[in-house]
Amino acid sequence: MPRIVIDAAECIGCESCVEVCPEAFRLNEDAISEFISRDGFEQCIQAAIETCPTECIQWAAIGDLDESTQASGEEDEPDGLA
Ligand code: SF4
Repeated sequence: MPRIVIDAAECIGCESCVEVCPEAFRLNEDAISEFISRDGFEQCIQAAIETCPTECIQWAAIGDLDESTQASGEEDEPDGLA
């Protein structure tokens, strides 16, 4: 199953992904994008991928992941936003 990979080293914290798809992305305390949820928001996520100026968000298959990337395919409630 595809998952989302965000290359934190390339993220500049511009918030474009959050503006385009707040259901699936948020900035963490270091102003780096992190993935919240994928279910039901595939089109929105794809739009966020296409708007990212550094192209650091990608769909990736399990096995493509390494220590330099952040990935998530499971739902996670945003802190303080539930
Ligand atoms: S659009 Fe890309 S560079 Fe901007 S915050 Fe999101 S992941 Fe980071």
